[in-house]
Formats: sequence, structure tokens, C-alpha cells
Amino acid sequence: MYRISLVTGDGIGPDLSEAAVAVLEAVADRCGVGFDVRRLPAGDAALRETGAALPEETLRQIRDSDACLKAPVGESAADVIVRLRRTLDLYANVRPAKSYPGTGALREDIDMVIVRENTEDLYTGEEFEVGGGAVALRIITERASRRIAVRAFEMARRRNMMKVTCVHKSNVMRVTDGLFSRVCGQVASEYPDIIYENMYVDACAMNLIRQPEQFDVILTTNLFGDILSDESSQVAGGLGMAPAANIGDDFALFEPVHGAAFDIAPRHIANPSSFILSVRMMLEWLASTRGDSSCAEAAVVLESALAGLVASGVGTRDIGGDLDTAGFAGAVSSKIRSGP
Ligand code: ATP
Repeated sequence: MYRISLVTGDGIGPDLSEAAVAVLEAVADRCGVGFDVRRLPAGDAALRETGAALPEETLRQIRDSDACLKAPVGESAADVIVRLRRTLDLYANVRPAKSYPGTGALREDIDMVIVRENTEDLYTGEEFEVGGGAVALRIITERASRRIAVRAFEMARRRNMMKVTCVHKSNVMRVTDGLFSRVCGQVASEYPDIIYENMYVDACAMNLIRQPEQFDVILTTNLFGDILSDESSQVAGGLGMAPAANIGDDFALFEPVHGAAFDIAPRHIANPSSFILSVRMMLEWLASTRGDSSCAEAAVVLESALAGLVASGVGTRDIGGDLDTAGFAGAVSSKIRSGP
């Protein structure tokens, strides 16, 4: 029995959370894996009600769980996710962009993953006003660059194309990105079986539109990874289809790439695929870290049920279907229970 902490979030978060729970229950029935899901508050509503965006009790329950599922939170996102990433040292942000037929992706053969450094760069919030101006510290260390590079190369080894593209802007930020690209190059020499290339971030932004199928694993720093992963998810079918994982050495948290989408929240029409595919990533992570073949099977069953449905036109409105969030989650759950 795995203990799963579930941050239900704000905006579309609660709808997505119920969708994730429905699908988890279905894979549990189908594959014989047990999940004890604990719903936890964090975000804008928690801030209003308790005075803390990330209540201590929520943090304690997350620490106490085997893995965390986190739905999007609103304006207080930085106080929740940035703090969780730092507190739990979840240094790798892994964002797959894979096109599923039927979702309006730019091409049907896109299958890449962005591996984004999650703990430093401009996200440390070291900003100051100086005289008539302002300064932000961009912190890049050898240790953080090395461990994210190792993650990216290990991941590439398990994939078909076996290629890593290191994305930076070392021609302008010679010291910080110079260090990042140098360390990545050193790690690359330890993986001679993996194809390795360097690309400036502006060229990468262009190539993600021009030839998205050429990418396999993109290895990059925090801010560039944030921007490129919104772009890659749009290229591969939109934010509603985009999952993510924040992974450390012995804990991981899974969440959609997108935010709380308050504009569509009252209509209950959000696409839960982003969170359902985050559940899939969690199952794969449990499979590899616990050596649990039932979780590996559950991940495959979940993905094929979802892919089969969207390919036949079943889905939410953002991908051309006509179901609401609960309706689509129900369809995925039924398919998981009944499918081959
Ligand atoms: P943030 O700044 O936290 O990323 P945001 O409000 O700028 O949040 P998102 O919430 O990430 O942006 O999403 C942008 C828009 O994409 C939303 O306003 C919504 O219309 C659409 N969108 C996002 N997620 C989904 C989803 N799961 N299903 C359908 N549409 C979505």
C-alpha cells in the first residue's frame, strides 16, 4: 500500500484532483496496487483559511508519504511549489512533451522530455534595489549542474533516440552558463553511448517549432526550462496534456505544467490529462525506485487507455472533445477497468 499525499490546490485543482483519484482507483483495481490517498490543503484557499500557503501539517504529511501529487495552486504558487522543491531538494524538474494523436499536436511524432534544473538560477529570489536600479543574482553551481546533467544522461539511456541537447546562452552569460555547459560537457564524456549536442536557447525556441521531432532529452537551467516547457507542451497538444515531475534522490512530487486556470474553473471543463499523465509519471517512478512491476504495468495501462480515448475523439473541449473534467476522468477510468 503506497501512501500518496494529494495537494488539491486552487482553481481547477480540486476538479483535477478528483479526476486523478478516480484514475488511481481504477489502476489499483486493474493492477492490484494499493493507494492510500490523503487530500491536503495548500495554496490561496489554505492561505485565507490558515494564514499559511503551505501549512506545516501539509508539509509533515507530504514528508510522511511515499510520493506527492500536487494539483495547481493560484497566486501563492511560489510559496508552495518553490518552497517544496527547496525543502525536499527536488532538484530535477522533468517535463515530457509527447504528442498523442487526436490532440492537435503540431506533429504526431513528438516525444521529448525537458530536464530542468530546479533549485537555482534566477529562481533563488536574490533580488535587490540598488540606487536607481535593481539587481537579480543568477546562481549556477557545479554541484547542481552536475547532478541535473547526470539525471538527463541516465534518462536518455532509457529512451529510443538516446540524445541529450544541452540548452544555454553561454555566448552571452559566459560565466554562469559557461560553467553549466562546461560541466554538462564533462558529464557527456562519461556517457559516450549518448548523442550529445549544445544549442543556444534562442535557437532551441525556434527549433521546437521548426523540427520538434529532432529533440529527445533537453537539459537546461531553471528559467530557460520553465519557458521552453510551456512552448514544448503547446507544440505537443497544449497545456491540458502536459504533466511534470519534481524529482530528488529519494522523494518525488508530480504536478501539471500549467497553473490554476481560474478563467475556466467555474465551468468544470479543464482537461485532467495533465494530472492523469502526472499520475502515470508517479507510477513509473514508484516502479523504478521500488522495483514494483505492478506499478510499471499500471503506468502502461493508464497511458494506453488515455491515448486510445483521445485518438478516437473522446476528450475535453481544449482537445476537440465535448466532455467535462469528471466525464473524461470517468471515461479513462472505465477504459482502464475494461480494457485489454
Ligand atoms: P501560471 O502563471 O500559474 O502558469 P496562468 O493562469 O498564467 O497560470 P495557466 O493556468 O497555466 O496560466 O493556463 C493558461 C490558460 O490555459 C488557462 O487560462 C486556460 O484557459 C488554459 N488551460 C490551462 N490548463 C488547462 C487545462 N488543464 N485544461 C484546459 N485548459 C487549460
